[in-house]
Amino acid sequence: MKKINKITNIPEIEYVNLKVFKENKRVLLFTGPTAYKSSKSFLKGLNIVEVFHIDSSKKEIINKNIDFLISKKSKVDICFAVGGGIVADVAKMYAHELNLSLVIIPTLISSDAFLVDCTGIRYNGCVKYIPSLRAKSVLIDFNLLKKTPLRLHLSGCGDVLSIYTGLSDWKLANRKEKLKADETYSVSVAKMAETILEGLLIEKDEIKKGTRKGLEAILRALIMEVQLCNTYGNSRPEEGGEHFFTYCIENYMPHFLHGEMVSFGVLITSYLQKETWRKMYNFLTYVGLNYIPKGLTEELVMKTLKELPSYVKKHHLRYSVYNDFSLKKDGVKVRKFVKFILGKK
Ligand SMILES: [Zn+2]
Repeated sequence: MKKINKITNIPEIEYVNLKVFKENKRVLLFTGPTAYKSSKSFLKGLNIVEVFHIDSSKKEIINKNIDFLISKKSKVDICFAVGGGIVADVAKMYAHELNLSLVIIPTLISSDAFLVDCTGIRYNGCVKYIPSLRAKSVLIDFNLLKKTPLRLHLSGCGDVLSIYTGLSDWKLANRKEKLKADETYSVSVAKMAETILEGLLIEKDEIKKGTRKGLEAILRALIMEVQLCNTYGNSRPEEGGEHFFTYCIENYMPHFLHGEMVSFGVLITSYLQKETWRKMYNFLTYVGLNYIPKGLTEELVMKTLKELPSYVKKHHLRYSVYNDFSLKKDGVKVRKFVKFILGKK
């Protein structure tokens, strides 16, 4: 096992009834238009003095906003973030810059952004994870989560399903002796990651029905996955080609739900890894997770796949099946598979 100096923790997670929750400190609220609308009646106990809408994780936009937010700093004592993945992720960066603590209230469970202590910044065509801050706490109110369509919560499975392809890439890199010093292969960590994934798959009936048990299953799997990565030292056990595919396609298709695109990435990447992709396909179709984000076309997928081998090298991404992939060699078969997954059998 590799040596790490520090094992960080996940934020404290509290299950609350927001309608009776009180915060007397002066709150700077980070949110998005839809999230704010649906959550407003839940936030009456907060002493909100400023509302700031987050709609981008682009470096230039973040930098511009930081100056504006700093000018507001004397008016506020604490930050709250209410919304989905991008709001949670970018709010961590802002709160960090303001040197204020942050409480996150997810309105949807669509990724692991509210659990990790870094922010995925979009810069120069790729996603770079910059240390930001760990939320002081995450408040979960199932009555608030219930207001969000199940389709959006289901996408939260994506960052757990990514273990499937993430592990395969980790093993491949190990076999090919491509691992760097901070990503030594660990049989036990791989086994634990596999178990977290299996723990999600086994709850497929509750997840499909969108029951509280189902939402808790997604949430718990995400918590365990982040906790395991914290214990290991980085996200190698859950991040591989499926995420690299997602980062690359973002340059052509800027708006989609992270978990939905990662799920598509899991299907295409597991096919290329010669893994049993049907295992993931069966889960996705059974629970009804939309793995074809709106606007995704065969041409976009093929263009992304063509670019990926050079993309992963250019951005120094961890070794994956895409490093030695050649669309020239397997183009016909791959296109047939892509057509099948996109429903154009
Ligand atoms: Zn992710």
